Amino acid sequence: MDAELQRAVRDRAQHRCEYCRFPEAFAEAPFHVDHIIARQHGGTRSLENLALACCFCNRYKGPNLSGVDSQSGQIVPLFHPRQDNWSEHFEWNGPSLIGRTANARATIQALKLNRTDALSVRQILMREGVYPSR
Ligand SMILES: [Zn+2]
Repeated sequence: MDAELQRAVRDRAQHRCEYCRFPEAFAEAPFHVDHIIARQHGGTRSLENLALACCFCNRYKGPNLSGVDSQSGQIVPLFHPRQDNWSEHFEWNGPSLIGRTANARATIQALKLNRTDALSVRQILMREGVYPSR
């Protein structure tokens, strides 16, 4: 992937993971450029199909397009950073993310957004006032 495209993805995301909103500046490793629709499912390498994702969100999302809504048990599409508005789907409860929609609940589960190590790091950054950024 060329450097200009990567830079465009990073700038658009304001250097935050587009799933968990973690700031890249505080991450141990550089973030990945995620194919929202994985290449194996026909996703393209265009700006519209790319999102900035932290290493954890990128790894747990993998090529998945859908997940299970913990409330209804229905299979639903994962949160789509280009088509969905983050704040309409997610809200904070301290360091935990709450899904306001079926898509968000499925995403929280599939990407393990509320895993224990993430909550610990978020709590520290929240105390410092640097996360979540608006
Ligand atoms: Zn993330």
